[in-house]
Amino acid sequence: MESIVIVGGGVAGLDLATRLGRQPGAGKKGRVVLVDSAATHFWKPLLHAVAAGTIDPGNHYIDYAKQAFDNGFDFVRGEVVGIDREARSLTIRSRFQDVMETHTVIAYDRLVLALGSVTNFFAIPGAEQHCLSLDSVAQAEAFRRRFLNHCAAAGQRGQSRNAADKAASDAPLLDIVIVGAGPTGIELAADLRHTVDTLVRYRLSALDSPAQVRIRIIERSKQLLPSLDPSLALIASEKLKALGIEIHTETAVSRVTDKEVFTTDGQVFPAAITVWAAGVKGPDFSSHLGVALNRNNQILVDEQLRTLDDPHIHAMGDCCSLLHQDKKTMIPPSAQAARQQSVFLSRLLTRRAPAATPGFQYRDYGSLVSLGRYGAVGTLRRAIGNRHLHLRGAIASLMYLLIYERHVVAVIGPVRTFGHIMARRFRSKLLMPVKWH
Ligand SMILES: Cc1cc2nc3c(=O)[nH]c(=O)nc-3n(C[C@H](O)[C@H](O)[C@H](O)COP(=O)(O)OP(=O)(O)OC[C@H]3O[C@@H](n4cnc5c(N)ncnc54)[C@H](O)[C@@H]3O)c2cc1C
Repeated sequence: MESIVIVGGGVAGLDLATRLGRQPGAGKKGRVVLVDSAATHFWKPLLHAVAAGTIDPGNHYIDYAKQAFDNGFDFVRGEVVGIDREARSLTIRSRFQDVMETHTVIAYDRLVLALGSVTNFFAIPGAEQHCLSLDSVAQAEAFRRRFLNHCAAAGQRGQSRNAADKAASDAPLLDIVIVGAGPTGIELAADLRHTVDTLVRYRLSALDSPAQVRIRIIERSKQLLPSLDPSLALIASEKLKALGIEIHTETAVSRVTDKEVFTTDGQVFPAAITVWAAGVKGPDFSSHLGVALNRNNQILVDEQLRTLDDPHIHAMGDCCSLLHQDKKTMIPPSAQAARQQSVFLSRLLTRRAPAATPGFQYRDYGSLVSLGRYGAVGTLRRAIGNRHLHLRGAIASLMYLLIYERHVVAVIGPVRTFGHIMARRFRSKLLMPVKWH
């Protein structure tokens, strides 16, 4: 095996580093190095739950250095800031708070980019400046703190208002707008509703009623969850409406300020917090690689997941763009695709004759969307023959959880995963249902 450097330890990158590191004699045949700017791995599809405080990220971290030590690869903490394709080397900047900053050069025979994605604001005026997004644990935690502080302030306002006018006690005191009704927006809305219910039930703020926090979702398409079957989208929509969440479909945002969201059809929604969950693009670093990109800054790859300009560089996960084998659609940026690509590359990079390996084939096993404590909806494809199986309720919630646990099992193994689940269950008995401070 050659010297393989993987940049990005997310869903795809950590899985690949672990698979390659576990190959018999991996250390003798070549070096596997994982680079990530963070010290710990976190399963990104749970970021909405961190933002709402329904999970504590500390209970879900996987330490890269420990994972590397246990699985035969090296870990370098730092951000990749430069590449020399001729010399086949990367420059990594490591920051030690304000004490020092170092630049290290690492050589590679093969480079695998698994950089993930960042929020795409589509150049809507004011969106990047005034909206919060969920690209990292730090952003999700910042959202959570801001949300709780706004709830506390709204509760105080409510107390003074109720003293003057008791009849107005259910009128909204805080407006949250979520732009985008894909899985991220829907999952966040349901979890935020649960958090507000908990704040009221446990008297963790001066709010009297969950209705005092108004949550609105704005979506440009005709239905929420545009990627799901319309009948399932309808179930999700009815559930959200029953929870008091307003849904505005066929509504496009034209401008955002620090207090309002404007739409192209002339509506103005007040918003103390606006969350942008309406699309992703490749990270800025991709544009410094000198390889072909699509208009969303994602790296174009062939069916061996190689960049079109440099056979020594592969890309996988959200940061790459590949046409589906049906030649009609693009493979979606999803955890499911990221994981399949990592399995494919682990086989390709350990073969003696990689060029003879058949190309990557994406299999869509369906998708599941969690409504937190209020259930889940989704489809399972090819579960029975070639048919789609619609799931909802407790079974859908269980399947949703299993997708995450399957990733954890693949990375840390079944015994440690069991310990992980038990530790989380035990801690949850000691703590409030939401992280409220
Ligand atoms: C709130 C939310 C909910 C989601 N729900 C679902 C879902 O239900 N189902 C689903 O399939 N998908 C879901 N997704 C999408 C899914 O999380 C992504 O498709 C998946 O994480 C992509 O994996 P990845 O390995 O490509 O990137 P990531 O998991 O994002 O990992 C990228 C890694 O690269 C590192 N990195 C980036 N740039 C650099 C650099 N220059 N130097 C060093 N390190 C760098 C980052 O620190 C990060 O660790 C959701 C996403 C979000 C945000």
